[in-house]
Amino acid sequence: MDGTTGLKDTKNTLSVNVFTAPGKAMVGERPRPFGEPLGFDPATSTLIFGEYDAVLVDAMTTVAEAEALADWIALHNRNLETIYITHAHFDHFYGLSVLLDRFPGARAIATPKAVEGIQMYLSPPVQQLARRMFPGQVPTKLLGPEPYKGDTFTLEGHELRIIEQGRTDCPDSTSLYVPSIGLIVAGDVVYNQCRMYVGDTTPDSRKNWIAALDRLAALNPAIVVAGHKKPGAPDSPSTIQDTKRYLQDFDRLQKTATSDHELFDQMTALYPDWVANQSWLMFGFPGA
Ligand SMILES: [Zn+2]
Repeated sequence: MDGTTGLKDTKNTLSVNVFTAPGKAMVGERPRPFGEPLGFDPATSTLIFGEYDAVLVDAMTTVAEAEALADWIALHNRNLETIYITHAHFDHFYGLSVLLDRFPGARAIATPKAVEGIQMYLSPPVQQLARRMFPGQVPTKLLGPEPYKGDTFTLEGHELRIIEQGRTDCPDSTSLYVPSIGLIVAGDVVYNQCRMYVGDTTPDSRKNWIAALDRLAALNPAIVVAGHKKPGAPDSPSTIQDTKRYLQDFDRLQKTATSDHELFDQMTALYPDWVANQSWLMFGFPGA
């Protein structure tokens, strides 16, 4: 900075911090009689922040998670401008009302297609299912984000790019890319040492998912935050290839396994260090 450049014109670099909520129990029956007791995998929210302002990506599920997340955001002493929701699954936005109560100046946004998908998760039957599985834990009031038509927004002059990924673990999923710091907040397009939700995929959707991963790899990122990760695992770009390999292994073994149990055991043996060994992640959400 020279003497003629005002501080306001100087772009400070952005920083990133990741909040990970541990896995949690769910009430109900496993879809298959093997694997760990019914439970939900650990999930992340990401804070991107400059000198004054911040953007949060994804908003957790339960009141306790969203309150802990809000306390953690407050520790950063930044103005929370925007909450970006990567996709429609409830585990990424049910905590939103708690966050908007704590940060009333923030705007919550998602792509128009994701907002459309979110309406289903706000419908009474799906709310009831979630309240049954997480008794007393889901916020009384549930809110969705506003549709955002652009494919970029900014934080202190830095561009944040929305990447539409189509159907990965969810229809109309997205990732968020911050070129100035080589950051990808991948949403559930990337998993990090955590069993992936392949229970809602088809051979075709897995092809699209792999194309989405190749799209992220081509950006040559320095940091990649997965939507679900083993607590403490580094946010490494190698998670893109790990996710791709898991999908390819699942695709291959699904064709040859003689039973669901065998497929589950084979996948578990290939990834012994990954967390969340719940059968619903492989065979579909219970009650869905
Ligand atoms: Zn998720």
